[in-house]
Amino acid sequence: ITPVNYIGRFAPSPTGKLHFGSLVTAIASYLRARSQSGKWLVRIEDVDTTRIQKDAIYSILTVLEQYGFQWDDEIIYQSKRSHIYQDYLKLLKSKEFVYNCICNRKGISQHDIQPQTGEAIYRGRCRNLNILDLKKHSKRIKVNNIEISFIDLIYGMLKQNIMNEVGDFTIWRVENFASYQLAVVIDDHLQGITEVVRGSDLLLQTPRQIYLQKYLDFKTPSYAHIPIVVNELGQKLSKQTKAYPLLMENSRENIFSALKYLGINSFFISIINDESKNNAEILINSAKYFKFNLVKIF
Ligand code: GLU
Repeated sequence: ITPVNYIGRFAPSPTGKLHFGSLVTAIASYLRARSQSGKWLVRIEDVDTTRIQKDAIYSILTVLEQYGFQWDDEIIYQSKRSHIYQDYLKLLKSKEFVYNCICNRKGISQHDIQPQTGEAIYRGRCRNLNILDLKKHSKRIKVNNIEISFIDLIYGMLKQNIMNEVGDFTIWRVENFASYQLAVVIDDHLQGITEVVRGSDLLLQTPRQIYLQKYLDFKTPSYAHIPIVVNELGQKLSKQTKAYPLLMENSRENIFSALKYLGINSFFISIINDESKNNAEILINSAKYFKFNLVKIF
């Protein structure tokens, strides 16, 4: 048996149906994993139970199957892993990295806004208040004044001082579940993910994840952020912007459009087209033509 050195993943949140933008990131991560003879895992990020949509999981998995994706290992569901996240929360608490916070979003948003992300910077209002665990509070991680830098395989070198640009960030939500940041870092670690390929909307959240990895003694995977697909108004395709859901009927066309978006030229696309009987074959056959340096940053 040859060991698998590469493990990638696709981690959709079931907040709605998959659309063309999701297809682009799914294909990029899939082709990358297949081109490295690695594994490709699917993880359902349903940790935020306030945002999940009934039926979305079923529809996402059906579409992935129809579009020819073949995942390795069992799918994991974040909604079933609360006990795991809880254990890591305890660990962070025992090291006194965590504090309870009673601020609500409204109070916070009057503070400075980080211009690139539009997110409010949290200046640690509750950090020294020692708010007890008497009822459910959100929990924040204390961040220090250090710069996190990493080399994104598409965007290049990025640097962020989390204290100045983000502030202490939430790792546990007041509704009593792990925040996206905490859950994603734990799962990427426990699943042995070596490289994260995902949409560039998460680019500026990556330093927070690297920060948590350092606190938890986890290895940092490599990161490649794929420029997100936008509509004519320049908005990210999403449920809010009424992106069309992916259908089976035009799956072949959609896959080829996604391959074009990822920079595979029409000559290779016609070869792939001739070589492939079905969607699964298109994806596998495309793997040898996909490279990060083909992806254009808009
Ligand atoms: N669940 C996130 C989303 O659907 C992706 C998280 C990630 O890839 O790290 O936007």
